[in-house]
Amino acid sequence: MQDYTNFIDGARLAPTTGQYLETENPYTTKTWARIARSGPEDVDRAVAAAKAAFTTGAWSRLTAPQRGALLRRFAELIVENAEELARIEVTDNGKPLSEMLPQVKKIADWLIYYAGLADKIAGATLATDKPGFMAHTLKEPLGIIAMITPWNSPLMLLTWKLAPALAAGNVAVVKPSEYTSVSALRYAELASEAGFPPGVINVVTGLGQEVGTALTAHPDVAKVAFTGGGAGGRAVYRAASDRLVPVTLELGGKSPNIVFEDADIDMAIKGIVSGIFASGGQSCVAGSRALIQRPLLDKMLPRMAQLAGKIRLGDPMSPETDIGPVATRPQFERIQQCIAWAKEDGATLLCGGAPVPDPAGGPALFVAPTIFTDVRSNMRIAQEEVFGPVLSVIPFDTEEEALEIANDTPFGLGAGIWTRDLRRAMVLSRGIKAGTVWVNAYKGVSQTAPFGGFKESGIGREGGAAMIDAYLQTKTVWLNL
Ligand code: NAD
Repeated sequence: MQDYTNFIDGARLAPTTGQYLETENPYTTKTWARIARSGPEDVDRAVAAAKAAFTTGAWSRLTAPQRGALLRRFAELIVENAEELARIEVTDNGKPLSEMLPQVKKIADWLIYYAGLADKIAGATLATDKPGFMAHTLKEPLGIIAMITPWNSPLMLLTWKLAPALAAGNVAVVKPSEYTSVSALRYAELASEAGFPPGVINVVTGLGQEVGTALTAHPDVAKVAFTGGGAGGRAVYRAASDRLVPVTLELGGKSPNIVFEDADIDMAIKGIVSGIFASGGQSCVAGSRALIQRPLLDKMLPRMAQLAGKIRLGDPMSPETDIGPVATRPQFERIQQCIAWAKEDGATLLCGGAPVPDPAGGPALFVAPTIFTDVRSNMRIAQEEVFGPVLSVIPFDTEEEALEIANDTPFGLGAGIWTRDLRRAMVLSRGIKAGTVWVNAYKGVSQTAPFGGFKESGIGREGGAAMIDAYLQTKTVWLNL
């Protein structure tokens, strides 16, 4: 078993605390590595290294095209090492390799996209109302960005922050999830191999309550980019507001898939089933509510149950596996709690609804793909994010009712609309309070398109050309001619 230290100022560095946390493989349930349990002094060191890189180090002297070139070289190394990185993530979070490998390879697209924007950052010459003056704007990086990430798609969600931040000239201190820290350490080493100078990307591992809070409160951190749950997001927002620094928050969801009578039903069934059960539901945009127009219920429900029953649970490294084990024991217990709520509140169990043994006889924690019908919007199962393979089917009659139910949660991350009626697709996509709406599709994301949440699903967006501005500030310069 290997001990993984922090990555600070271009080198591995043992934590000042001398302490380590065990990290478990959810499939074998065995500890496979130990990561540094860092403390505030380690955060201070990482921030000091980042500050030196930003203010006086080699990074501060690079031109924008040079930053772009480094991001492109990093993208190449990610592709060359994708298998190793994906296997680390699978070992840590139990998601299937068939999902994590393409996800890791896709990171290169994000790096290349923002590499291409690095040398297109530009201020403007302004018209003025003051005779004898001219004015122009400069776009400047913010400085040290704290990047705090969850366990479900560790490197992808880190890259969503890192690629635009570095393209804009910032530096990073990364706090990965305590459940999945190893891949970020390897990623930072690869960045260093690609030529990023020491201190540009630092990784400090440990607990949210220890490292995450110290980093968020650090006086030299200029912005916090956070992906995770609502409790952590609120804590980060409070700490950032005390210091008046900006945040990007990518939080949870309770996203609806809405199917109308005129839809292509085959396509809708596949979209709904993969929308919730891919990744075992451990995805922020899992389509965890299926809003189905009432006359379709008899036709769709048996087929949805049949498709859910064909999903193969097992060893996440095997190409035969669709869903691996639940990533952590607390998450497994949370899913059981949500299933119990659905039963108590009177929902009808269509399929699943219980833990299932590991098909290979191992100790891993699996949950069968679960569908509840007769769900009403005010039930806890229709309101709470489960982050597991549990779908709630809510019937509706009219378009107005569908819209009302779709918006009837505190979240607003994604939504799917299944219809052949263009007018209806347009009306609903305008009416739905969510950051992304898919019509006759579900869950596609891209570096070219902004992604993020309305309401309690977050603040700000990641992805798309305009989002480089989230890592820049504007300075106006007046010249008295
Ligand atoms: P989490 O909030 O428990 O942890 C996320 C990260 O925040 C971890 O690194 C953790 O150590 C850190 N953290 C926790 N408390 C903190 C605090 N007080 N201060 C600073 N850092 C703190 O989330 P999780 O369980 O790892 O991830 C699951 C959640 O993430 C789900 O709610 C899911 O919907 C959400 N998520 C959102 C998106 C998105 O893009 N909107 C993507 C993936 C996951």
